[in-house]
Amino acid sequence: MDISTTLSATPVDDSRLAGILANPGFGQFFTDHMLTVEWTPEQGWHDARITPYGPIAMDPATAVLHYAQETFEGMKAYRRDDGSVWTFRPEENAKRMIRSSRRLAFPELPVEDFVQAVDALVTVDEHWVPENGGEKSLYLRPFMFASEVFLGVRPAQHVTFMVIASPAGAYFKGGVKPVSLWLTHDYTRAGRGGMGAAKTGGNYASSLVAQQEATAHGCDQVVFLDSQEGRYVEELGGMNLYFVFDDGRIVTPETGTILEGITRASIIELAGKLGHQVEERRLSIDEWREGVSSGAITEIFACGTAAVVTPVGTLRSAEGDVPAPPATDVTMRVRQNLVDVQFGRAEDTFGWMHRVV
Ligand SMILES: *Cc1c(COP(=O)(O)O)cnc(C)c1O
Repeated sequence: MDISTTLSATPVDDSRLAGILANPGFGQFFTDHMLTVEWTPEQGWHDARITPYGPIAMDPATAVLHYAQETFEGMKAYRRDDGSVWTFRPEENAKRMIRSSRRLAFPELPVEDFVQAVDALVTVDEHWVPENGGEKSLYLRPFMFASEVFLGVRPAQHVTFMVIASPAGAYFKGGVKPVSLWLTHDYTRAGRGGMGAAKTGGNYASSLVAQQEATAHGCDQVVFLDSQEGRYVEELGGMNLYFVFDDGRIVTPETGTILEGITRASIIELAGKLGHQVEERRLSIDEWREGVSSGAITEIFACGTAAVVTPVGTLRSAEGDVPAPPATDVTMRVRQNLVDVQFGRAEDTFGWMHRVV
């Protein structure tokens, strides 16, 4: 893919950048540039370009504003002690975007074009990747939307792919601490044949009211059950779940209606290497309750690109609370292993890291 570059005439100055990178928070500051590629049936993917970051003008009849045809990815660029910059399994993000695209009747952006696009933006805005330390990173947000100007309902005849980047601070300030969860019975995030496995904005739109319910009950996050029986644990609004048993087994809900997290998939491999037997299967809310109460479940954790791995604490619900499991040893070991590979402090035995700069 040919990518043209128009550099910003007003890039961030050193002192402002230093101020931003000292305390970037999440999703508030954006780098100097953005990347855009267009698609039409006649031309395929074309007009790939890096331009100064800025607003995009949109006709009010642009399809995405009406029918929510959108998919996205979330990934990070990490700086190592030697100054080099790396991403984690970018081909997996590319492949997942293809799967999401199929579900939303979008064209498929080839894996190599996706990786090239992300690399190109990170390279041009390389100085926005924070220094190694405290788990800071440059968060990358590739996304695709129906940019056709048409109110008819059909697969879009004009699609736009973009990548933007935003420096991110450590998810946990002042140390990793367990998240409390609210079990919702009123809402589900995905049904059979629905969009649960696609990374699409609509799934987030539908999760917000459940998240509000969690907040109203004093919880950090919401946990969803399956929509058919209301029995089986699915995932959080944006993180997958893992259960650690006292015999060393680790269980994670099977795929289908959940989002296939790349952190989730990586932990399946990593935990195997650490000597755990990993099972992908359904796990009911009763098994959660009884497992914690009998001591069979010793740890529960959630995982995703943003937090990497976080221990799960108390589960609250209309039927009463399930206390936090007693331990976090396996959770913290898995977390440390992943973070060390991402920042180049441990050997990358699986070949997960991709050098950008
Ligand atoms: C992105 C996402 C995850 C985590 O996926 P990672 O690839 O590990 O970041 C989990 N659940 C949902 C709903 C998501 O959108």
